Amino acid sequence: MLDADFFRRWMTATAASVDREAERLTALDSAIGDADHGSNMQRGFTAVLASLEEEAPATPGAVLVLAGRRLISTVGGAAGPLYGTLLRKAGKALGDATEVSEKQLAEALRAGVDGVMALGGAAPGDKTMIDSLVPAVDALGEGFAAARSAAEQGAEATIPLLARKGRASYLGERSIGHQDPGATSSALLIAGLEEAAS
Ligand code: ADP
Ligand code: MG
Ligand code: MG
Repeated sequence: MLDADFFRRWMTATAASVDREAERLTALDSAIGDADHGSNMQRGFTAVLASLEEEAPATPGAVLVLAGRRLISTVGGAAGPLYGTLLRKAGKALGDATEVSEKQLAEALRAGVDGVMALGGAAPGDKTMIDSLVPAVDALGEGFAAARSAAEQGAEATIPLLARKGRASYLGERSIGHQDPGATSSALLIAGLEEAAS
């Protein structure tokens, strides 16, 4: 079973990998966007960690709802509301249980991803974070390591795609040949699950 501490470790691991990879995320965004995705995510997850420390939420659901709220209020742009919705909806789906199973986590993340698709209108294949999140959630039943590699493969598979949503879509055909920054950061988020469990 996964307790609030697991979820805190998940956010901490994600914040650390976002820090490590910020330059790469921004470089990816400079090719098909406005070169701010690394700094956006860094600002957001730094604020998430500060809030988790201040408010010390006691349940898995409360950790994710708080994290989602902070991302919405600090990240801005496209990614803030989308990542915020992902975590807030997932947190709400977990309710006020003090421990949740991996299956419940998978179902909650599915609800979160559905929320992202409803908000942003992206479907799989549109070259967005959805392209790593959907395969990751599909693979979660086989464990965190499987989810991680599904997310990483999903992010790499955005390279040949034409962007149909967000800023990159303004480039049309010129978006082809570049990995989507949001799909790349989503793979970091999913990889954080495995780190939190180890
Ligand atoms: P902005 O484009 O406002 O500068 P970011 O650079 O932080 O925001 O985030 C860009 C990422 O957001 C993209 O790489 C993509 O994965 C994701 N994104 C943008 N629009 C959408 C959308 N409508 N649905 C899902 N993801 C999206
Ligand atoms: Mg950007
Ligand atoms: Mg921007």
